[in-house]
Amino acid sequence: MRDVVIIGSGCAGLTAAIYAARANLKPLVIRGLEPGGQLTLTTLVENFPAFPKGVQGPELIELMQSQAALFGADFVEGHVTRVDLSHRPLVVETESETLETRTLIVASGASAKMLGLESERKLLGHGVSTCATCDGYFYRGKEVVVVGGGDTAAEEAMFLTRYAKQVSIIHRRDQLRASKIMQDRLFHNERIKFVWDAVVVDILDVGRGEVTGVRLKDTKTGDETIKECDGVFMGIGHSPNTSLFRGQLEMNEVGYLITHDGSKTNVPGVFAAGDVQDHIYRQAITAAGSGCMAAIDAERYLEEQGTGNRE
Ligand code: NDP
Repeated sequence: MRDVVIIGSGCAGLTAAIYAARANLKPLVIRGLEPGGQLTLTTLVENFPAFPKGVQGPELIELMQSQAALFGADFVEGHVTRVDLSHRPLVVETESETLETRTLIVASGASAKMLGLESERKLLGHGVSTCATCDGYFYRGKEVVVVGGGDTAAEEAMFLTRYAKQVSIIHRRDQLRASKIMQDRLFHNERIKFVWDAVVVDILDVGRGEVTGVRLKDTKTGDETIKECDGVFMGIGHSPNTSLFRGQLEMNEVGYLITHDGSKTNVPGVFAAGDVQDHIYRQAITAAGSGCMAAIDAERYLEEQGTGNRE
């Protein structure tokens, strides 16, 4: 029986692990389908306090993980296939084992949304990307499109202008959702063009195994056109990884877990931290902060219950 199981190994999960480990709770971190979370998909992080020159996202994650391990956190590869939060102890199943725990910290994060096209799935990694900072380098001197009109799309587009000779933002409306400051940067960048009122209905060319263009549909006229490009970056937002918890943990209409009084969910002993419960701030530092809160809440819960393995 574990005192603390943590689902997810991004900023939130690892910070929870550091705190729980330092509280002698010997947490077990299940690393999940995207180990290290979204920071592993970025390059330079310039706004994490204490790194005035910035720090590479994957390095930051490695540092957090080694800090958690140093204090006694355990790590297991793999992902959770089922949870049963209706009884005590809480039950967490992975592909290979069934775990019992007194408390659970859900830090399973959020993943990039996709359009849902067959061609998008087939060309993912072959010209279709969800991460400009990971893949932008491959588009030096090329033409790329970014789909979406929010801050994610804006950031992806700005980043891509370092490499690509032209970046076209394809947006389904004629107004961006991105913050004013990002909009200003986009409008003043001569490498960025806009295709308004358009949706991507197909990505070409699956037969060649590489991206040669996108088929666009005008949302007002219904007309279809082809725009040639070498890469397609999805910037249409993220969805929380919460399908496992449906029917067990309270979530909002788009699936973000609802927390109250810090990191508490509707099930006593189950806490949530990071992007899985935060669609507003979504920063590494806020995820880390909420991971800390979840570990402290779990520790207090165990104390109140008078249970726990802690010596
Ligand atoms: P948003 O939900 O804000 O934006 C998603 C964009 O994609 C919208 O423009 C939306 O269009 C479009 N879109 C969604 N689904 C589709 C679809 N199926 N087909 C075509 N277009 C689609 O998500 P973001 O990830 O951009 O941002 C989420 C939050 O994170 C925001 O609060 C944002 O401010 C924040 N953020 C902050 C950053 C920063 O400050 N550095 C960086 C990134 C995000 P429509 O506008 O028509 O709905």
